[in-house]
Amino acid sequence: MAKKRRTLSRASSGDLLPEKRQRRPKQKQPFLTQFISSRGNEYFCEIDEDYLTDRFNLTGLNTEVQYYQYALDLVTDVFDLDCDDEMRETIEKSARHLYGLVHARYIVTTRGLAKMLEKYKKGDFGKCPRVMCHSHPLLPMGLSDVPSTKPVKLYCARCEDIYNPKSSRHAAIDGAYFGTSFHNIIFQVYPALIPAKSAERYVPRVYGFKLHHAAALVRWQNNQRDDMRRRLRKMDVESGFKDGDGEGEGDDDDEVEDDEELGPDDFDAAEVGALVQATAGTVA
Ligand SMILES: [Zn+2]
Repeated sequence: MAKKRRTLSRASSGDLLPEKRQRRPKQKQPFLTQFISSRGNEYFCEIDEDYLTDRFNLTGLNTEVQYYQYALDLVTDVFDLDCDDEMRETIEKSARHLYGLVHARYIVTTRGLAKMLEKYKKGDFGKCPRVMCHSHPLLPMGLSDVPSTKPVKLYCARCEDIYNPKSSRHAAIDGAYFGTSFHNIIFQVYPALIPAKSAERYVPRVYGFKLHHAAALVRWQNNQRDDMRRRLRKMDVESGFKDGDGEGEGDDDDEVEDDEELGPDDFDAAEVGALVQATAGTVA
């Protein structure tokens, strides 16, 4: 029976609608369509039916998901069980969990990567909140591959840092539904997508003067970065920075040189504070 319905739904889902309505008055849409289109599930892509129905891809998941067989039937739209609402809700919850776990496997396949790439290009996962990343699109990622450990985070390839999703709906999604590798694999498969590393940095200032400790630290960090880039260039290793960005030509380095001319290295926060007070006194 299940097989017959499956073939029917493949042949033409339109013809099957009246029958479905009769059998399951509450379920207007197939689970998959409903899941993908519901609010809060924007990070998920639609898994191909072929992938979902290949048992090999689901290896080991039967022990992870409660009511596995019913959940799988629901996901693949062959669910055919008369049960009360409570049971139905439990099975739907299991089906959502199952979909998430298969999703983590699917998005690292060629098809899955291509689908997630489209979503990435559209900015479906949001933009980097860091000002100097200039709204670079983000990718969803997990901090663990074990389900129910950590919620999903968003990765920015430009600053190579991770962020919490803005919406609470997204922040509640299990990180294991995306996994710890997808966001790195996508750049291995599509190396042209790797953005130039961000060399721009925020420099703390008080009325235009850099704070002594912060300025000294920034200069040390910039020197370390430039040393590393020189070493990598000598070894012919791609550093990921754009040529000419930073390294003596960038804004930061210029600013540090300006400092040396002006000599505010000798300023510290307290001195600047005193200066500000003195200036304020003069003005008043
Ligand atoms: Zn960023």
